[in-house]
Amino acid sequence: MRGVVGFTTTIPVEVVFAGGYVPCDLNNIFISDDNPMQYLEKAEKDGFPKSMCNWVKGIYGVVVKKGIDTVITVTEGDCSNTRALAEILRYKGIRTIPFSYPFDRDRHVLEREIDKLITAFSVKPHRLAQVDREIEEARSTLALLDRMTWSDRLVTGHENHLWLVRASDMLGDYRKYDVMARRFIHGAKSRAEIQGIRIGCIGVPPIVPDLHDFIGSVGGHVVYNETQRQFALPYPSRNLVDRYLMYTYPYGIFARLEDIRREIKERKIQGIIHYVQAFCYRVIEDVILRESLGVPVISIEGDLPKALDNRTKLRIEAFLELLREKG
Ligand code: SF4
Repeated sequence: MRGVVGFTTTIPVEVVFAGGYVPCDLNNIFISDDNPMQYLEKAEKDGFPKSMCNWVKGIYGVVVKKGIDTVITVTEGDCSNTRALAEILRYKGIRTIPFSYPFDRDRHVLEREIDKLITAFSVKPHRLAQVDREIEEARSTLALLDRMTWSDRLVTGHENHLWLVRASDMLGDYRKYDVMARRFIHGAKSRAEIQGIRIGCIGVPPIVPDLHDFIGSVGGHVVYNETQRQFALPYPSRNLVDRYLMYTYPYGIFARLEDIRREIKERKIQGIIHYVQAFCYRVIEDVILRESLGVPVISIEGDLPKALDNRTKLRIEAFLELLREKG
């Protein structure tokens, strides 16, 4: 796919737009496909083990099956598997461009990494400044949509999830995405207020498609999608480097904790559902999260892009019952 630049997780997408390319979050292509299993089957046919995170296999399957020839691979600050994934992609003849978020949030290192991307895509400074200005508008529209979820309670948890998670590439056209989001907001304004226990979902975006809707069906309302909100970077910032320094997801659990605690308070969240992905190293963070949030926490695990299993449904239902009793 000429002109399309794939990436393995949120990157400074402004640079790709400013270079005249179409950014494409490979996770979104995988999970929004009518048949996401085909990408996992392709990866396993090519030798990926069964006992490996299915997001990684999904990304690989999308790149190979869709013929994507350039991929930005985030080798620090996201997934411990990405280096090996980048090696396999290079071996298959795909151009890979490494990008790293500095674990210690060092401004100079991040600046250098962004400069490397600017060079890789031959981006002109004035063009980047223009995109940066324009994309802020889309980001503030998404911030409003997020606010309408927890403050006005007019947006469902699933809608919030979709709008924010897709902000990583804005479906390849940030102006159009902004227009679509504004239309959605306009339509949502005349809705009735959503009732239900205020739930926060934290952790990597769920691979299971029905998590938010199920929570809604048993009396909960997801008013906070931690990582998806981070992907949308919906906060004012002075410049590109600042924006990606404020982004918490790549800088470890302590940066995330600060954000989660603040949002629990602001959004009056009554309980947290921590989603973990099978075979993901981030599962270890659950230990810290459970002890640090000050509200009840339940952890659930997903593996395949399929509906929630009955056992997990029962656990979520029991969790909501407990929150209801607590008042
Ligand atoms: S869920 Fe974990 S293992 Fe899977 S891609 Fe994300 S960070 Fe990597």
